[in-house]
Amino acid sequence: MIKKDYYEVLGLARDAGQEEIKKTYRKLALKFHPDKNPGDKQAEECFKEASEAYEVLHDPQKRQVYDQFGHAGLEGRGFHGFGDVGDIFSAFGDIFGDVFGLGNMFDMGGQGRSAGRRGADLRYDLQISFTDAAFGKQFSIEIPRHEICPDCSGTGAASDTAIKPCSACGGKGSVIRTQGFFSISTTCTRCHGEGKFIEHPCRLCRGHGRVSKKRQLEVKIPAGIEDSSRLRLRGEGEPGSGGGPAGDLYVFIRVKEHRMFSRHGDDVVCRAPISFPQAVLGGEIEVPTLEGATKLTIPHGTPTGKIFRLSGLGVHHLHGRGLGDQLVQVEIQVPKKLSAEQESLLREYARLTEDSIAPQKEGFLKRFAQKKAN
Ligand SMILES: [Zn+2]
Ligand SMILES: [Zn+2]
Repeated sequence: MIKKDYYEVLGLARDAGQEEIKKTYRKLALKFHPDKNPGDKQAEECFKEASEAYEVLHDPQKRQVYDQFGHAGLEGRGFHGFGDVGDIFSAFGDIFGDVFGLGNMFDMGGQGRSAGRRGADLRYDLQISFTDAAFGKQFSIEIPRHEICPDCSGTGAASDTAIKPCSACGGKGSVIRTQGFFSISTTCTRCHGEGKFIEHPCRLCRGHGRVSKKRQLEVKIPAGIEDSSRLRLRGEGEPGSGGGPAGDLYVFIRVKEHRMFSRHGDDVVCRAPISFPQAVLGGEIEVPTLEGATKLTIPHGTPTGKIFRLSGLGVHHLHGRGLGDQLVQVEIQVPKKLSAEQESLLREYARLTEDSIAPQKEGFLKRFAQKKAN
């Protein structure tokens, strides 16, 4: 891929001054900023190109190398531009505000800049029954979490006059350090970037600005949810600080095993015992379903392990209409104890069927012998 000329990217003459470079980059960064062009890959590409060009041209040393040797010269020094937009913010994030006076606009969240910190995400484990997972249900859960202190509205101070600007940073929350050609803004260590200092802390929260509270929340479990699913409740996590957004609450779903049913996708699977006479002669059996018991007709000559499908008696499709089926696998029960009469009848049955069983047995043994020979 051929890289574009950095001056061309920014639309600048080769002798452009520092102020001009900054101004032009500011214009382009505003135009192509990801917040302004959500999902626009081309804008993101332009934003990256402009940022990379700015990264080089606003740095006199890098610019000199670039002017003399072009892209190859920078690569020889290990400069490859930015991998993604996140890199741009970690490179320029701290100075965007200072350089451009854009404040919150360039805050991508999560990086803990003085513009506001996003609240932490919370996890809640919820165990639900097999049936609730199949049909869905609303649950009321209690979440212990921090909330903004009602007494001080989160300021942490007993009164508004108890808040004084930080003397170390003059209330800015950050101090500018100059290092060679760079001006780096770092968080003030005295006020931790708050820019203020509390003389008399709030009594309720002891200056923390937040209190621990149990909060009741309604969680709607959608019908058809599967074990180990995760639901996100946006903004129900810990509150943010300094105007940052709240975190999210993640509800981890654990579906309890059912005594009789198991799931196979949206189908419900169960086993049903049948007797040998039922298997041979056919008949009607009663099987449990999620909706209650229902009748199932077994045709004569049903082998053990045969699966019958009860249409529409399964679990709701999670994304979409309709339900899965219920699969009933029949299992012939072999009695361990027989009464004398039962035994004699069965022996009689065996004697009567011996003739029809014998050839089958022979055929089976023959097939087995052939397989071994092969
Ligand atoms: Zn300070
Ligand atoms: Zn308070």
